Amino acid sequence: MGGLTGPVLRADEAVLRANIAAVTARVAPSALMMVVKDDGYGLGAPWAARVAADAGVGWFGTYDIPTALRLRDEVGAAPRLFAWVTSLDEEIDAALRAEVDLGVGTLDYLRRVIARATALGAVARIHLKVDTGLHRNGLSADEWDEGVASALRAQEAGHVLLVGAWSHLAEASDEEDDAAQARFLDAVHRAGELGAELPYQHLTASAATWARPELRGSLVRVGAFCFGVRSADGPDLPGIAPAAELVAPVREVDGDEVVVGAGSFDGLPSILAGRVHVGTPAGARALLAIGADAARIAGWDGAAVGDEVVLFGRGAHGESSPTTLAEAIGTVGEEILCRLTPHVRREYR
Ligand SMILES: *Cc1c(COP(=O)(O)O)cnc(C)c1O
Repeated sequence: MGGLTGPVLRADEAVLRANIAAVTARVAPSALMMVVKDDGYGLGAPWAARVAADAGVGWFGTYDIPTALRLRDEVGAAPRLFAWVTSLDEEIDAALRAEVDLGVGTLDYLRRVIARATALGAVARIHLKVDTGLHRNGLSADEWDEGVASALRAQEAGHVLLVGAWSHLAEASDEEDDAAQARFLDAVHRAGELGAELPYQHLTASAATWARPELRGSLVRVGAFCFGVRSADGPDLPGIAPAAELVAPVREVDGDEVVVGAGSFDGLPSILAGRVHVGTPAGARALLAIGADAARIAGWDGAAVGDEVVLFGRGAHGESSPTTLAEAIGTVGEEILCRLTPHVRREYR
């Protein structure tokens, strides 16, 4: 559990940069919005955003406003920050002051954002969300005209800038995603008839962005693939590799097994035991058992206290990727990363 005998999540700037370059090249001419929610998929949102902004990424998706405010301090005034969760008025005020773009998916939230911008004399940068079938959030076809019209009125009064339209895909089947895109484009077209331009249109996350160019808008929202997390049961991605590895030192050599300092208290799912291999100085070895703060690994000749075991990473020592671990237990790679507790030391190189 942390400390020098515990696990370290080692995030690699060169790999993150290479992933961003691969995604950026793949999606051109669409612009990349890098999603850094869940503290940058466990790697650290401030670090990830700093590296990405330096690499030329101009948009960041944070989910919530507090994360966007933290990133504003990291990346300066130029990059656009997009926070899409419906938020409290105090948070809206802070977002308006920091020029954070807001995703707006209900008429009530739209009213509140306009009211706060009017009260502060600020300009709210708004991306209207279309409900394209997920029914999670987003203006329905019945609400769309009213939403666009009231945003346009506030824009004429100088309190709103209508920046874009967006939605989210289920990524369950191509047919459903095609139908969702059709509803999205209908809404954008209708907004145009009402007089709204909506220059930034964004619909796709990692998997659809990568595989379905016809669904991309002028902007794409990509999290997992930037961090090198491929989709569970999805294809390998040329040019993309896990941007972090989890390493732990050998604490004890016990016959033909070794004990390393990483366990379920650190966020490792204990049901991984017996299902996956990890990386060692001698190559892949079976992960035999996971306890609270230690795991047992099949040993190797010459194993010594202090040797480094790689629980997941890029494969250089025989270890699997986060997604391969996830597949062994029926989950997604993001969960392997995001479950790691804050006690796991983060190291950046
Ligand atoms: C998480 C999220 C994304 C990014 O998803 P990835 O699959 O990690 O690329 C994009 N848009 C929204 C609304 C999200 O919640």
